[in-house]
Amino acid sequence: MASALTEKLSRLVKEVRGQARITESNVSDMLREVRMALLEADVALPVVRDFIARVKEKALGAEVVGSLTPGQVLVSVIQRELAATMGEGVSDLNLAAQPPAVILMAGLQGAGKTTTTAKLAKHLIERRKKKVLTVSGDVYRPAAIEQLKTVTKQAGAEWFPSSPEQKPLEIARAALDYAKKHYFDVLLVDTAGRLAIDEALMAEIKQLHAALNPVETLFVVDAMQGQDAINTARAFKEALPLTGIVLTKLDGDSRGGAALSVRTVTGAPIKFAGVSEKIDGLEVFDAERHAGRVLGMGDIVALVEQVTAGVDMAAAQKLAAKVKSGDGFDLEDFLDQLRQMKKMGGLSTLMDKLPSQMSAKASEADLGRAEKEMKRKEGIICSMTPQERRKPELLKATRKRRIAAGAGVQVQEVNRLLKEFEQMQGVMKKMKGGGLMKMMKKLGG
Ligand code: GDP
Repeated sequence: MASALTEKLSRLVKEVRGQARITESNVSDMLREVRMALLEADVALPVVRDFIARVKEKALGAEVVGSLTPGQVLVSVIQRELAATMGEGVSDLNLAAQPPAVILMAGLQGAGKTTTTAKLAKHLIERRKKKVLTVSGDVYRPAAIEQLKTVTKQAGAEWFPSSPEQKPLEIARAALDYAKKHYFDVLLVDTAGRLAIDEALMAEIKQLHAALNPVETLFVVDAMQGQDAINTARAFKEALPLTGIVLTKLDGDSRGGAALSVRTVTGAPIKFAGVSEKIDGLEVFDAERHAGRVLGMGDIVALVEQVTAGVDMAAAQKLAAKVKSGDGFDLEDFLDQLRQMKKMGGLSTLMDKLPSQMSAKASEADLGRAEKEMKRKEGIICSMTPQERRKPELLKATRKRRIAAGAGVQVQEVNRLLKEFEQMQGVMKKMKGGGLMKMMKKLGG
């Protein structure tokens, strides 16, 4: 699905290329594809509608600047809007309260509350050097209390005992009291969840909220819930002033659309993502990265920006003009090209930013090798005299041996480089200039 969308989008980007403005008609085809992609990613329908309307409004007003094509501008509007909807940047836990800062965990049964409680305890201990206490208010399932005890131990935090005979409110008050007396920085309160929303459950958690006055009320939601996430989120939002969301099970095969629905309905920032069952399987949520995941198009915007910012456009244009004027393409120019590639952050950075299904083709080992080879090539050219670089035909056996020794490589490698240079020279002649520019444009969209 993701690759199909990426293909469709890049085809549409090509179609609108060359048109100077973004218009109603060249935008609507692309938006139709995006709408489908969002629905397939399990974003709830009302959320999709709103989103498309906002993108349309922004895109129609957007100016097409510099070397970007309308298609690229549209992709960037889509991705920016997606990231903005999912929240700007990253936001960590707010602990600005008289200690102990209380964090209340809310969500359906099986959402991952208990697991996330322990993950957060570990995060707070390791990253923020806090003294953390956990307590379970789930008096309906004795196993839940035991489960919290086990995972709290794994996290290296302290667990406050509770039992099914007690009332949740009573437990919470006792834990808070204990946390105050023993100078804990944070108290994490795990709560009972039901399989579906029910009145009694909501009343109970509201009571807990009133008694504890938590600085963070986190809504834990399973990313695999897909379309249903919107209803659960709405119910919890009506019951509690949510301060953040934890999206669990993002390691599953969900398309992550729940993030968009939940965020839109609650207005609360997504603070963390659960990415495995293990205690360290928690990541600070990165909205922009996730936006790329939902649309399956990778961080195309960042790529476009990096390509246009990193490349010395003046140098590229000079080169293009030179080839066009028939001055020829020499080893100096070849070296320039190698350096431009390096400036753009190297191959692996570029590949990272491409949609995953594209970058998956090149393994890390391949990239590492390619980068090393690029450095060796640079070394070889740098071992030549300026005259040799301008007139590669001077390079006979003795000179090649000297260059190989200088660069610390075998003569065969020098030959290989020269062959590659000749091929590139051929391509440049055929393109009659603009080779590099064309390549950049291709990368950009
Ligand atoms: P609770 O009922 O809300 O407390 O949910 P639990 O914490 O007991 O989690 C329910 C199930 O989901 C357990 O089997 C967890 O191991 C699993 N789980 C929780 N978070 C994640 C996650 O981020 N990724 C994966 N793969 N599994 C998770």
